[in-house]
Amino acid sequence: MTRIIDGNEIADRITADLEPCLETLADAGTTPGLATVLMSDDGASETYVSMKRQACNELGIESIHHELDPDAPADALFDRIDELNGDPAVHGILVQLPLPDHVDRQAVLERIDPRKDVDGFHPENVGRLVTGTPRFKPCTPHGIQKLLEAEGVETEGADVVVVGRSNIVGKPMANLLVQKSDTGNATVTVCHSRTDDLAAKTRDADVVVAAAGVPELIDGSMLSPGTTVIDVGVNRVDADTEKGYELVGDVEFESAAEKADAITPVPGGVGPLTITMLLYNTIKAASLQADVDVSLP
Ligand code: NAD
Repeated sequence: MTRIIDGNEIADRITADLEPCLETLADAGTTPGLATVLMSDDGASETYVSMKRQACNELGIESIHHELDPDAPADALFDRIDELNGDPAVHGILVQLPLPDHVDRQAVLERIDPRKDVDGFHPENVGRLVTGTPRFKPCTPHGIQKLLEAEGVETEGADVVVVGRSNIVGKPMANLLVQKSDTGNATVTVCHSRTDDLAAKTRDADVVVAAAGVPELIDGSMLSPGTTVIDVGVNRVDADTEKGYELVGDVEFESAAEKADAITPVPGGVGPLTITMLLYNTIKAASLQADVDVSLP
């Protein structure tokens, strides 16, 4: 019987485990603060930011929101980041991606103080992750690690195929899974848009993490029986619904579920974990900055 992994339930459990950390910080006089910066009028970006802010408010993390006109000069964003870097009430800074074309995304990520880089995208934090001394693990791959752990999916010695090589999901996922750690020790293959014969790779996998941004790229015929399937994709496809679209993953759910041992749905799989791990990183940032040990879960 295929297990449908309930990401909301796992996220709720981790969130509950974060509450004592907030209490410890409160006893030490610190309320974690997360600054979100939105420089876009893209509806999906607005939705993501408002979900992150709501999650902060529900847990008791201060949410400080900044919006910039998408046509504003890049310097307006750099100046805002500089202000937030210097603000002691702000422990974490999240600049929502994507950014307008005239703004150099890498320069923005490098402008954020690495001690406040709760997305974990600053090269200093990427370097720390790769060398096995992570400060902030990027939220989506970290959430997937937590999800695999919660489901009892053994990664040690497992063949894991990561489909996608982005700096946000694919590469940090692969880096986390190869680390010498209880949630690592996997043999990882990274596939991408130039991979020859993707199906041959996924059929050999014990675990497939699909993060290609291609609707229903992976179907049941590309999987072996017993695979654990983690679907990161969130793709809008035209549909006869009120909004005119529906969300589908990178995995064709019905046929994949017939083969998989366990599978995440879209929505309700990886997404909730991404937000929870942002809360986790914000608490970690506050604890590091206040020099208070909070024993994170
Ligand atoms: P991206 O576009 O930056 O990267 C996609 C990667 O997939 C690239 O490395 C590309 O080489 C690879 N790829 C593209 N077509 C492929 C193909 N046919 N075969 C194999 N590989 C292929 O995207 P991203 O930011 O990594 O996001 C990937 C997906 O995950 C998107 O749908 C995005 O919306 C979703 N996402 C979800 C969450 C979440 O919390 N659920 C978080 C981040 C991203």
